[in-house]
Amino acid sequence: FKNYVDGFPKESDMYVSTENTIRLKLPQGSNGVLVKNLVLSCDPFLLLLMRKSDHGGLFSCYTPDSPITGYGVAKILDSGNPKFKKGDLVWGITGFEEYSIITDAESLFKIEHTDVPLSYYTGILGMPGITAWAGFYEVSTPKKGETVFVSAASGAVGQLVGQFAKLMGCYVVGSAGSKEKNISVLINHFLVLLICFNGVSFVLVVDFLIVLTVTRYFPEGIDIYFDNVGGKMLDAVILNMRKHGRIALCGQISQYNLAEPEGVKNLLPLIHKGITMKGFTVFDYYNHYSKFLDILLPFIREGKIVYIEDVAEGLEKTPAAFVGLFSGRNIGKQVIVVSRE
Ligand code: NDP
Repeated sequence: FKNYVDGFPKESDMYVSTENTIRLKLPQGSNGVLVKNLVLSCDPFLLLLMRKSDHGGLFSCYTPDSPITGYGVAKILDSGNPKFKKGDLVWGITGFEEYSIITDAESLFKIEHTDVPLSYYTGILGMPGITAWAGFYEVSTPKKGETVFVSAASGAVGQLVGQFAKLMGCYVVGSAGSKEKNISVLINHFLVLLICFNGVSFVLVVDFLIVLTVTRYFPEGIDIYFDNVGGKMLDAVILNMRKHGRIALCGQISQYNLAEPEGVKNLLPLIHKGITMKGFTVFDYYNHYSKFLDILLPFIREGKIVYIEDVAEGLEKTPAAFVGLFSGRNIGKQVIVVSRE
């Protein structure tokens, strides 16, 4: 990480260093682990850590000229922690580097099931998966037959919400930024309809167009809106919510690049229609992880849920892959494969 970022992130906000910055040895008496990183995860929240802010105590921002940290899958090379031994596979917060010393080993999850791609532990079986699961089943309280709208529907979180809703017997419409995402991700695999703005980022789309499009796909209104983008989309969708609808505030990616976030203007319908709008963070749901795995693994093995990934090979691809999240370049979950063994 080079220095604090304002506005859209650029590839030049990061650089690749070939210096050997860590000693490949656990310090004496450490209860951490030394790992080899295999897969790293590009997640929108990393941009928040690149800004100089206290983030309400939820995250600490990065220090310039130190490695980016984020979610990844890694192999333990040495362990001072009784929970882990050499050769174990884990997922959790690690460094964006080939090898890392993770001092907070207690925060890592051991990977017990390797009959699925390891990269899934950065997505469907990792942080975005629990986010989608908690946000849909716990926060949105869905019922069979309800109407569900999900934004950023082809991404790491959105593609799962769409499939969960479909499995529950809901009518689902997802939005995405390009036709390519429509065809390759949504219609072929998930039978989710699509609102597509032909590659134009939602921040550029005039408000009335969103309102018209949403109304067209939901002539009788929306019961559940799973919001990944915030901003104008959220404002437009509120106008088309049904009585006693629920809005799960998952993310606001359209706002992360702005110095001043746009305010949500259309709050009156929340009162008139008794709509609940509830924010949540995945951190409050990690204690449900084993229950989540018991549900998700059979879905994957039986092919009831599929997961699209956008795989970049090589650590040096990280800046481009990460920056691409904010222009919608990724199709599916964006991962970086650092090493295949
Ligand atoms: P995605 O894989 O969906 O990638 C980001 C996508 O967001 C892009 O592909 C693009 O999709 C869309 N996008 C980018 N910029 C804009 C913009 N300016 N306006 C509208 N859409 C935009 O990311 P994730 O699935 O990982 O994350 C989705 C959301 O969930 C994010 O807001 C993230 O912060 C949030 N999140 C929240 C968590 C929580 O605990 N509450 C945990 C994890 C994620 P397209 O081209 O289709 O528009």
